[in-house]
Amino acid sequence: MDTKSTTIAVITGANRGLGRSMALHLAAQGVDVIGTYRTHRDEAMNVVREIEERGRKAAMLELDVSKSASFEAFAEALAKTLGSEFGRTQFDMLINNAGNALYASIAETAEAQFDEVVAIHFKAPFFLTQRLLPMIADGGRILNVSSGLARMTYPGSAAYGATKAAIEVFTRYLAKEVGPRGITANVIAPGAIATDFGGGRVRDNEAIGKMVVGNTALGRLGQADDIGLAVAALMSEGGRWITGQRIEVSGGQSL
Ligand code: NDP
Repeated sequence: MDTKSTTIAVITGANRGLGRSMALHLAAQGVDVIGTYRTHRDEAMNVVREIEERGRKAAMLELDVSKSASFEAFAEALAKTLGSEFGRTQFDMLINNAGNALYASIAETAEAQFDEVVAIHFKAPFFLTQRLLPMIADGGRILNVSSGLARMTYPGSAAYGATKAAIEVFTRYLAKEVGPRGITANVIAPGAIATDFGGGRVRDNEAIGKMVVGNTALGRLGQADDIGLAVAALMSEGGRWITGQRIEVSGGQSL
């Protein structure tokens, strides 16, 4: 029997970028965090410290979401951490955020690249959510991360954009199936955000940055905190009646 004393969010890819910002803003509103990292353990440990500075508990586990065969071992490690460090058997919020970029025209996309983007951005949220569902408390929240590129069409993002579109449809079905347990499921679609994503393309390429700003109603480049703040708002009590929705967080990009 789970004895809930705090709210715990599990966030994949929480060591930097959008996942880190989500973790810090959720911590600021009283949520404990179990994050994952793939390669940057040092960054992950810094995020633990930053969360603890905000008065919350945090832990970080290693996970490569492209390897679905590892999800069983990950679930076991998560259960162990929940028990030993948080005194719980379940958690309350799952955010499927981890992922990398693929920029390639349809003509240039290799089958291996296609398989990898599907594995990371579609198969992983599907099967990780499936495996972790029994560990999500009734009344909990699930949030998937899509992209503005599922709606906007920029050449070079066909496989990535179509895969993000798949996660949007998956989220709608998920909302129906977890609704009877009082769990919400939504998907956010960030516009172009200045992170390390794609080698820092949006942040560091002046021409791309200019193009994005020119196409954005609010007239600036999106920052990680724009997404972290939106996620914290959606995951707060005010978001309890929102489910099955795609919420674009882009400052009005390509309206
Ligand atoms: P970053 O490159 O800044 O961070 C990516 C994060 O995902 C890191 O924590 C990284 O871990 C982790 N990660 C990458 N690949 C894997 C993998 N195979 N298994 C596990 N973890 C992995 O990217 P963002 O924070 O910008 O992006 C986060 C999410 O937001 C992604 O799903 C992306 O598609 C989406 N998004 C981003 C946009 C943007 O413009 N930035 C726009 C729209 C959507 P590590 O560092 O340890 O490798």
